[in-house]
Amino acid sequence: MSRRPLVAGNWKMNPASAEEAVALARDVAARVAGLSPLTVLCPPTIWLAAVAEAVTGQQVRIGAQTTAAEESGAYTGETSPLMLRGLAEFAIIGHSERRRLYGETDDDVRDKVASAVAHGIRPIAAVGERLAERHAGRTAEVVERQTRAAIGRLQRIAGTGLVMAYEPVWAIGTGEAATDADAQEASARIRAILAELDPTGAEEVPILYGGSVTADNAGRFFAQPDVDGALVGGASLQAVGFAAIVAAAARVSTR
Ligand code: PEP
Repeated sequence: MSRRPLVAGNWKMNPASAEEAVALARDVAARVAGLSPLTVLCPPTIWLAAVAEAVTGQQVRIGAQTTAAEESGAYTGETSPLMLRGLAEFAIIGHSERRRLYGETDDDVRDKVASAVAHGIRPIAAVGERLAERHAGRTAEVVERQTRAAIGRLQRIAGTGLVMAYEPVWAIGTGEAATDADAQEASARIRAILAELDPTGAEEVPILYGGSVTADNAGRFFAQPDVDGALVGGASLQAVGFAAIVAAAARVSTR
């Protein structure tokens, strides 16, 4: 089936001011206007409201970079899916930086994905192996384990709005992207695991590749049958380059 390409920009802890965030969002929105892929901007939580307001009525969508699983309570520093509702349509869950720096586990990812879905927020669940795991020949095992965990509390896939992202940790922010064949292999593996739960729903899920995607290399990932877009970190902070990645996704959207 044909899936609408999706390109998400993970701004991480950038930019430093609301003014810069709004300017970047407006610049991206203007450059992707009329392009067919779904374009999602994921600013820091503190800029979500300003960015959402700045792009109201335009075709870019808003995502959070993480979410808590709980609705409210004694969770210092966290933002709940209940609070995100109406502000963010998507939430990245299980980004490798959240796993590595903040101790997020597969169980946390499972609970956050389920909670996001329950609150009408589309999860972008990130999975991917670390360099040592790759060298040990464990890529498939890690991707399978993390994918099974991410959907562990879902009854089905259809209707959840789930998005998956294959992000090999060694490729994030390093300038060393995976090969298109690696991205396809991992994405097909992810889709096969989703299909064990819900074969029809699995076909609807956009699977993104993430890891040093640029305007120069994006096209070769998008040409893969199971890669439906990109999760972009560094290159999403430059409107021109990011819009070029969205344009590259648009070129294959008719396949
Ligand atoms: C990311 O942070 O999800 C990412 C893929 O970063 P980069 O594009 O900078 O590698």
